[in-house]
Amino acid sequence: MFLNMKRAKLIAWGMAICFLLIHVLMYTVFSQCGVTPMVRFNIFSIAFYVAMLFVVYKEWLPFYAVAVYLEVLAHMTLAVLFTGWGGGFQIALIGMNVLAFYAEYTGRTLKIKYIRMMPFCILGMIFYLGVFVYLRFNPPHYKLTDTAEFWLSLLWGAIVFAINLFVLQLLVYIANSSEEQLEYQLSHDNLTGLPNRYHLTQNLQSVENGTTHDYWIAIGDIDDFKKVNDTYGHKCGDYVLKTIGELLDEKSGLFYRWGGEEFISLEKSNRSLLEIKSFLDEKRRKIESYPFEYDGIKIKITMTFGVSGSFTGKGLNDVFRDADEKLYEGKHSGKNRVEV
Ligand code: GH3
Ligand code: MG
Ligand code: MG
Repeated sequence: MFLNMKRAKLIAWGMAICFLLIHVLMYTVFSQCGVTPMVRFNIFSIAFYVAMLFVVYKEWLPFYAVAVYLEVLAHMTLAVLFTGWGGGFQIALIGMNVLAFYAEYTGRTLKIKYIRMMPFCILGMIFYLGVFVYLRFNPPHYKLTDTAEFWLSLLWGAIVFAINLFVLQLLVYIANSSEEQLEYQLSHDNLTGLPNRYHLTQNLQSVENGTTHDYWIAIGDIDDFKKVNDTYGHKCGDYVLKTIGELLDEKSGLFYRWGGEEFISLEKSNRSLLEIKSFLDEKRRKIESYPFEYDGIKIKITMTFGVSGSFTGKGLNDVFRDADEKLYEGKHSGKNRVEV
């Protein structure tokens, strides 16, 4: 998962430092233009963001999100009321919405306490519109210089675009990587790491739709596996399953864990029956000769396979039934065999 507490904290710290620097700049601009109330407010803001570095350190992220939103809201409201619309302070507030939702999403993803940010964003909208209307009837007390207004508007535009692009790109990246991880977990067995029944069903779709013509399947079942569990315990059984998964797979990418102690291989190819049998026999021998050892006890494990495929001329369901019957035959003729 891309998002973890460490990364979330680093991003939050980065934001707090950026905001701190912006307020140092605002302090200078307001001092130059003689807007005393805003000079004072920016001294508060600078102290506020220093405190926020500590808040992030303590991992109080929901509090951090709300406090920062309210600080920006207060700054924008006062700055616009005192100096008018020309300084572009209102643009900064718009940029905060995407950050607010990013913060809520982070809280949910990290399964920490989170605060719903929608009410704060609506509050932001009310203030934004309210100040706009208020200014129509009550002109601001102070006037920024034309140069200050020009550079401030340019700066806010750049900052808000940068925040929007960064956060939206980050959210897309986080969403994509967690989707990929979920998809992987959904389609892989967490004991053996092999693709699971769901994955196989997806891959069988092209066979079912008739877009794949030549294929073969083998159902493999561990012999007397219940005895392994009963004699050495379930954990030992899990160890055997995991090891068999590795022995079968070996980068072949052909094997799936069907469930329990049954594995299925599916290959879309027109290999001859002889080739298939020798491939599976090699796997079978590998398992038979593998030195399984659990808690210092050596265990002998074997596996039986039943094979069928498109070469029988049957449909998918019948091919499955056929492979299962072959497996059954293998079990009844002494196990540790590949029955074709
Ligand atoms: P056969 O040779 O005829 O296949 O006999 P068997 O004992 O292998 O077959 P049976 O179906 O009687 O037993 C399968 C056992 O597999 C029963 C079940 O407890 C065990 N099993 C299924 N899934 C798991 C698992 O994930 N972990 C462990 N440890 N055991 C499992
Ligand atoms: Mg079985
Ligand atoms: Mg078995």
